[in-house]
Formats: sequence, structure tokens, C-alpha cells
Amino acid sequence: MRIDLHSHSTASDGTDPPAEVMRRARAAGLDVIALTDHDTLAGHAPAGAALPPGLSLVPGLELSCRLDGHSVHLLGYHVDPAHQGLAAELRAITADRLRRAREMVARLRELGVGISWQQVAALAGGGVVGRPHIARAMVAAGVIADPAEAFTPAWIGTGGRAYVSRYALDPAAAVQLIRAAGGVSVLAHPAAPTRGWAIPDQAVARLAVAGLGGLEVSHPDHDHAQRLRLAALAASLGLAASGGSDDHGSLTGHRLGCETVTPGAYEQLMSGVRGR
Ligand SMILES: [Zn+2]
Ligand SMILES: [Zn+2]
Repeated sequence: MRIDLHSHSTASDGTDPPAEVMRRARAAGLDVIALTDHDTLAGHAPAGAALPPGLSLVPGLELSCRLDGHSVHLLGYHVDPAHQGLAAELRAITADRLRRAREMVARLRELGVGISWQQVAALAGGGVVGRPHIARAMVAAGVIADPAEAFTPAWIGTGGRAYVSRYALDPAAAVQLIRAAGGVSVLAHPAAPTRGWAIPDQAVARLAVAGLGGLEVSHPDHDHAQRLRLAALAASLGLAASGGSDDHGSLTGHRLGCETVTPGAYEQLMSGVRGR
């Protein structure tokens, strides 16, 4: 069994539509793929309708959280889309993402960057808008050569010249919300150095008490030493050692299946889903 529990589509900031993500998942030899777009469940229906034989879809999402001023991402799986509390939070987060993206475009224009809101909105294509869409517009405008250059202090990196912060959930509240909606949660890329901050072990322990189901141990941004440390931390807290490619299509390089989770850890995680 090859299981990848982290991927993105055009429902958020991936470059491939959900159906294409499913096709690529099977082509990459996966048996199970989780679609975990940022702050939306909108990709699940088109992904499910396009599921190739032999591939199982785990409906998921990646919730934007903030702890002590730092961005923290929480993956959720098998939540009830009809849960009103969760739906209300997703509406609040996506509405504020829109406000924030507009403000960042305005600040970039003040800095002389020749991009428009229309361009960014077109790149988002009706999905949840995020900084990667702005980064792609900046590449198209010839301001930077690679989307990664946008995520620096010079532009829209956290705290950067054109950066605008946004509404995000407290991670412990998000863990409880996912549980209340019948799902299980996994702390995403807890040690990724490229994201500027590694969440302290004590904070992870508090999330475990709040009902966290797993820790994303296998992630492309984690080096070998971090994986060993996170696996030990997960074991000590009784959390599943999860993993996934965090594929965003061409934005990250097509890499579905480059990171996987063991069937045992998958079963441990899914045993927390209500009704299973
Ligand atoms: Zn993330
Ligand atoms: Zn992600």
C-alpha cells in the first residue's frame, strides 16, 4: 500500500485541477491519496468523480492556524462537510484570505510591481486565493524569476515589505473543531526550516492533549535528523507518524508519492475517525 496524505489542487494553490491530481496519484503508483487543499473542501467532489480504479480518496483539508505569531498548518481528514462550526470557520478564513491578497497586491503596486488584482484572481480561478498566486503573477510580470523569490522579506515573505497577515485559528481550537466535525487531525510539516519556525515540543504535547491524531514526520522539507526526532516525539505522545508529498503541481515540482505513510500509521490515524 502506497499512501500519500498531503496534496493540493486548483481548489487552493495547486496548479492542477482535482481530477488531474487523482490521475497523477494513480500514475505515481499510489493506492491512497488525501486531497488537502487550504481552508476548503471544494476539491473533494470533482476528485471523487474522477477517481481512477484502484485509488482511494481521503477527503482532507489544511487549516490555517497561528501560534505565538507564527503560522501553523493543521491537516484534517474525513470531516463532516455539513458541520456548521467548521463551515463557518472556513468561510471566515477564505473571506479574510481574499481581503489580505487584495491588500498585498495593492502594496506591491505601491512598490512599483506591475501586477493587477484581476491577474491574481484569474490565477486562483475561483479557488481559495493564496500567496502562491501572487508569486506566480510576479513571475509573469518579470519581477522575479521564480515563485520562491516572492517569499522573502523584499516581497510577501512573512514580515516582508508587502506582507499582510490574516485571520487564522488557534491550533488547539482547530484540533477540537476537526474532532467535533468527526475527523482526525495531523500537525503539518512541524519542523520545516524553510517555513521559518519549528513548533516547540511542549506546544505539540498540548495539541496531543487537545486531541491531535498525528504528526507529519515524512515531508519533503524535513531532513533525516528532523524525521528521527519527530518520529520519536510522535511515539512518545501516542501520535501517528504521518506523511505526504505536499504536492502543489508544477509549483513544487510534480512529486505525488515522494513521501508516504506506512499502512500501520495510516490505520492508527484513521481509527480516530468517528464512525469507523
Ligand atoms: Zn502547509
Ligand atoms: Zn500543504
